[in-house]
Amino acid sequence: MTVHFPFQNSYSALPDSFFARVAPTPVAAPRLIKLNRPLAVQLGLDPDLLETPEGAEILAGKTVPAGADPIAMAYAGHQFGNFVPQLGDGRAILLGEVIDRNGVRRDIQLKGSGPTPFSRRGDGRAALGPVLREYIVSEAMFALGIPTTRSLAAVVTGEPVIRETVLPGAVLTRVASSHIRVGTFQFFAVRRDTDAIRRLADHVIARHYPELLSAERPYHALLAGVVARQAELVARWLLVGFIHGVMNTDNSSISGETIDYGPCAFMDAYNPAQVFSSIDETGRYAYANQPRIALWNLTRLAECLLPLFGEEQEKAVEQAQDILGVFPETFSKAYQAGLRSKVGLFSERDGDEALIQDLLDAMAKNQADFTLTFRKLGDAAGDPAADGARAEFMDPAAFDEWAQRWRERLAGEQQTAAERQTAMNAVNPAFIPRNHRVEAVIQAAVNNDDYAPFEELVKVLAKPFEDQPDYAAYADPPLPDQRVLQTFCGT
Ligand code: AMP
Ligand code: MG
Repeated sequence: MTVHFPFQNSYSALPDSFFARVAPTPVAAPRLIKLNRPLAVQLGLDPDLLETPEGAEILAGKTVPAGADPIAMAYAGHQFGNFVPQLGDGRAILLGEVIDRNGVRRDIQLKGSGPTPFSRRGDGRAALGPVLREYIVSEAMFALGIPTTRSLAAVVTGEPVIRETVLPGAVLTRVASSHIRVGTFQFFAVRRDTDAIRRLADHVIARHYPELLSAERPYHALLAGVVARQAELVARWLLVGFIHGVMNTDNSSISGETIDYGPCAFMDAYNPAQVFSSIDETGRYAYANQPRIALWNLTRLAECLLPLFGEEQEKAVEQAQDILGVFPETFSKAYQAGLRSKVGLFSERDGDEALIQDLLDAMAKNQADFTLTFRKLGDAAGDPAADGARAEFMDPAAFDEWAQRWRERLAGEQQTAAERQTAMNAVNPAFIPRNHRVEAVIQAAVNNDDYAPFEELVKVLAKPFEDQPDYAAYADPPLPDQRVLQTFCGT
């Protein structure tokens, strides 16, 4: 039996300027280290066949499955604010698209599958560590209910990759509702190829925003749609303490999914200025800067769409500004609603925003762990004697002062303590992919070929809102000597 991929490709039917046709480069000795079986099933793939040697060869790019139309997608992008007119898939190849069991079109892409015409001086390969990090964090985001690309599989290639040291090579199979980015539009905008921008916009509307097909002004509506999805996405990131780390326009998805897990990280102690990425020297992509950067990226998208807005440029610019102007409100609405749920409020009242901000300020001042404070606040809502949240504060009196106001506010709602605790536990995760855990998993795999820690971490993170007493230690923040201060890019 051979593995059957029910490909129905659409992107590779777009004009030639959108991509380069290129097959993955075969590797020496592919070995499957992880298959996401539930995701395989959802994509209409046979997980048992994917686990055969032939399946591993496909997932490593050694064999191209029937029906694939492998391409490297063209895109441009602003990297840390500097425009690069041509980036493109330099180490990734889109095998094709399948329609999943929910009727959603999904890209199946190999990342680390060898050089493409967009590789420039790169080797087109990926190292095992970053592949495992992307697998762990993207699947954790999915379990947290946050729009994201998924990870179908990780394979080691049996070939070394040379970075600062020699590392095992690996390939990640990434699944996305598409890999179209703000940078994809920029690629054509900088070439003043308005026909291509229109083709791309039409493709995106049909694929990601079909409800806009009948809109009076579909391209304006498209911009508004992407603005709304990105605003909501970034709010979701902040609500779980996620820092993307490289919010370049080429890493900003048009479908509104989190994409490109490089030096990303979840923060432990709450600190709005937190940066982990070793290359983010100015803190451009710091935790609290993410909404502002998302809007900056969307402004670049708006610039690309202007030629589709009509003849009169001045009017087009005004219209674009109006659409972008909605971002702060959409973001704030989603963020504040999320925060209200996190502190267990069922209703909305004047003063809530200030009450919650005071908690966040006290958390920052007292180096309270972001995840544990909220999780344990749920316990405190259920039982006033539960003091886990209080214990997160260097000065517990700061919590007490706030908690008194919080309890007064809660008293104005009719829900029971148990109802509140249940609701809070459904939005405040106990388990996030803590950096020190991710690093430990990577070290075990890279240094000792030991994947048991990886398997266990993935298993725990699949149920982030359940207590899982057997794995309670995974909820703990790092000890001082375990703390990870910097993360490094996927390359
Ligand atoms: P990223 O930092 O992953 O968003 O990548 C930025 C750009 O660099 C994209 O065009 C990638 O395809 C390219 N790139 C990253 N790593 C490599 C590599 N090892 N070989 C070739 N191109 C790469
Ligand atoms: Mg990228």
